[in-house]
Amino acid sequence: MKIAKILFEGKTCYGKLENGMVYPISGDLFGSFTVGGVGIPLEKAKLLAPADPSKIVAIGKNYVDHINEMSAMAAPALPEEPEVFLKPPSAILNPGEDIVYPIGAQRVDYEAEIAVIVKKKARYVKKEEVMDYIFGLTLLNDVSRRDKAKTTTQWVNGKGYDTFCPIGPWITTVDSLSGITIRSHLNGELRQNATIEDMIFGIPEIFEFVTNRMTLMPGDVIATGTPSGVAPMQVGDVIVISSDELGELKNQVVAEVPR
Ligand code: MG
Repeated sequence: MKIAKILFEGKTCYGKLENGMVYPISGDLFGSFTVGGVGIPLEKAKLLAPADPSKIVAIGKNYVDHINEMSAMAAPALPEEPEVFLKPPSAILNPGEDIVYPIGAQRVDYEAEIAVIVKKKARYVKKEEVMDYIFGLTLLNDVSRRDKAKTTTQWVNGKGYDTFCPIGPWITTVDSLSGITIRSHLNGELRQNATIEDMIFGIPEIFEFVTNRMTLMPGDVIATGTPSGVAPMQVGDVIVISSDELGELKNQVVAEVPR
């Protein structure tokens, strides 16, 4: 099942997406809900980021080839445990909207990532139980200002800007975590191309590790790391994160307006 969040005639709702129509959901998205019988054509609605998280938990250095390509900028050693950081929910950006390139930035990269939407309150979850806690998957662009990574140890300094977390285009529910693809195209050119199997720490291991530390709430987002092929974006560029299973998340880069 695909679940989209849309804006239509001034109202926001989640709905089941089927054959280009969005059927509004009422009730608890993460509990029991009903799907309305009258659909809204997707083309007449605006897609919104399908997430209202209390937090976005992100994993760095989770693909071997990406660690190797970043070795000039950071320690190349493979992590012994997931490298966890947070992105603020204020960074969330809707599909199709503009990534704002900060004034003075020297390098702002895209990072294509598979994102998990948490289904229910989760603490001390064992990796074998993880499917009970996953509502679905979507795509996320962990936009990263690299020149800030060189001047501070706090990753949020380069990853927490407003608009630096495009999410979408919708949530896809899954029965299994295998075979999910992840790609990015910058201005139409293929840049990243991997599968979920290329991760160092799989989603079950990540989930166990994170919930051993903090409580995940329904709707929370876990960004699972990016494969190799990251590179800078410039103002005017179009970045598309895509997956055969999860859809396509497209945004463009604009210059920050001086205040
Ligand atoms: Mg990342």
